[in-house]
Amino acid sequence: MASPLAFETDSTWYESRADRPPSGETLNREVETETCIVGAGLAGLYLARELAERKREAVVIEARRVGLGASGRHGGFCGPGWACEGEKIENRVGLEKAKTFFNLSLEGFQMVREVLESAKAPMTPGILHPSTYNNPHGLQKDLERMAQVYRYELDYMETDAVRNVLDTEKYYQALRDPRAFHFDALELCLILAEILKSAGVPVYENSSMTAFHKTGTDWVLKTGQGSVRCRNLVFCCGGYGGKEFRKLRRAFLPITTYIIVTPPMGEPLKQCIGTSDGVSDERRAGNYYRIVDGDRLLWGGDITAFGELHPQHIARKMSQDLAGVYPQLADHQGEIPVEYSWSGLMGYARHLMPEIGPLDEGLWACTSFGGHGANTAPIGGRLVAEAICSESERWNLFNAYGFPWNGGPLGPYAVESVYRKMQLGDQWRAFRSRF
Ligand SMILES: Cc1cc2nc3c(=O)[nH]c(=O)nc-3n(C[C@H](O)[C@H](O)[C@H](O)COP(=O)(O)OP(=O)(O)OC[C@H]3O[C@@H](n4cnc5c(N)ncnc54)[C@H](O)[C@@H]3O)c2cc1C
Repeated sequence: MASPLAFETDSTWYESRADRPPSGETLNREVETETCIVGAGLAGLYLARELAERKREAVVIEARRVGLGASGRHGGFCGPGWACEGEKIENRVGLEKAKTFFNLSLEGFQMVREVLESAKAPMTPGILHPSTYNNPHGLQKDLERMAQVYRYELDYMETDAVRNVLDTEKYYQALRDPRAFHFDALELCLILAEILKSAGVPVYENSSMTAFHKTGTDWVLKTGQGSVRCRNLVFCCGGYGGKEFRKLRRAFLPITTYIIVTPPMGEPLKQCIGTSDGVSDERRAGNYYRIVDGDRLLWGGDITAFGELHPQHIARKMSQDLAGVYPQLADHQGEIPVEYSWSGLMGYARHLMPEIGPLDEGLWACTSFGGHGANTAPIGGRLVAEAICSESERWNLFNAYGFPWNGGPLGPYAVESVYRKMQLGDQWRAFRSRF
């Protein structure tokens, strides 16, 4: 397992309010099962749930605790789509397959909704995508294309309507997705763990896979104190997988991203943000935010490819970014107070799509959901469960993407330069639209 990041903190805002049960059992003996799943994030937990629903035997091995990876610390935004833009998917696989991909992403979205609904956990509907430059025709074209090609309806908002709810001159028109929602990321992971417990599926925590090998037709996985022998071994390690994953580790890059949460801000915050919608600006290297706990702001964005910045450093920078959009909230030094700041890792393949499929006979990958895993990791889990149960081969849609090399030591340079280019492009478009 990759060593935990130095500053990666467990004290996220989510953890501060979670009702986390005491640590689960650590694997300290030999276990035999049909399927062993490595990683208790959304991909691994949903896969285990799908197998349990089909009455198939499985265990989950988690290096740390359920949801301590990206899945329990993400922004809480859930809507259809993939980390890769729709247009790029169309260019690569053609329109018909792109529609199938979109429908899969919708199915994953529905899987999240169903679990939250069944547990009566809160979901707040509505995600707003404001433009940071004047772009009425572009947005209307996107809206029509989504309705005509993908049969997915979005709402269009004029600049006045946007500024009526978001008190900033940074935004112009917006598209609003009334079906997308936001929710408590960690709560979903803990609900899934509870479902698995009731179904009798063991989830071993603090049990890191250190090595694996094949014996006959079975796989054997080793942890510090135990081992698992299984017919199917599935890697759901997200961005946290280390060298123990061998060739899979060479097919993705861990990308760090950041979130801050302010202290309660009372009336001034409500005057700036007069909506319960989540907001995700349309920039390619943009920010997303939402009101939580009534009057705190959760604000996310920024990425680094070479490792993690100290949360205090990034908190300062993000607070200044936030003050750039809502200067009314800032103190005289141009900053907004921050109570929680944390980072998390996303696994990204070069093609920006998930890596789902067999690595060898009985050895599967279900990973690399990038920054759009809230809906796509669940459907990834379902596709692998269907394959293991010989129900479908829907996973083979991902053959179009495969497991390309991550670029080795040059990979992070490429990511950083693409990201900076996207930021410059965003700034240029915003600048141009002022004239
Ligand atoms: C800060 C942040 C904000 C985000 N915001 C959003 C958002 O708002 N909406 C959205 O759709 N997506 C968002 N994402 C992306 C989303 O969180 C991820 O795509 C998704 O959670 C990935 O799920 P996963 O199960 O693949 O990986 P993870 O949740 O990272 O789980 C992988 C698990 O594998 C375990 N593991 C690794 N190696 C080993 C080993 N050797 N042995 C045992 N266990 C191991 C890890 O400990 C970890 O628990 C965000 C991500 C981050 C980091």
